[in-house]
Amino acid sequence: MPTPVDFRAPHISKTLDRIVLSLELELIHTRHILYQTEEELHITNEVLASVQYENQMRKQQIERIRGPRVDRQLPECPICFETYSLARAETKPRILHCGHTLCNQCIRGMMAAETTHRLHCSLCRFSCMVIAPEYLPLNWAPF
Ligand SMILES: [Zn+2]
Ligand SMILES: [Zn+2]
Repeated sequence: MPTPVDFRAPHISKTLDRIVLSLELELIHTRHILYQTEEELHITNEVLASVQYENQMRKQQIERIRGPRVDRQLPECPICFETYSLARAETKPRILHCGHTLCNQCIRGMMAAETTHRLHCSLCRFSCMVIAPEYLPLNWAPF
């Protein structure tokens, strides 16, 4: 037996609000096309303005809860100057055993120059054990 839908649940009631709002807007829009009076146009504009205002309020509420979005400049790899990102495997920041952080791709490049699973950190020449960059811990500090 399916569980009954609780229309008072916040996310459902919000969705319903949005549907009602869009239906109302559509109605106003249709009316506007039918009659095209100055008054209708005025009402449409008023409703749109209040919808915009409400959206603005909602956005501010969300921002108050979540905290302001800060556009930080993410640190970059000191070898290739690529900005670290978790979205691409090559730009993930990996911590070597010497404590230095380099991107996946640079570590892979350094490994190619070595004959063993030890590589020499380009920044401090420390001999670090690396099986594959993916096995090294991620540095979450930039995020
Ligand atoms: Zn790099
Ligand atoms: Zn190092």
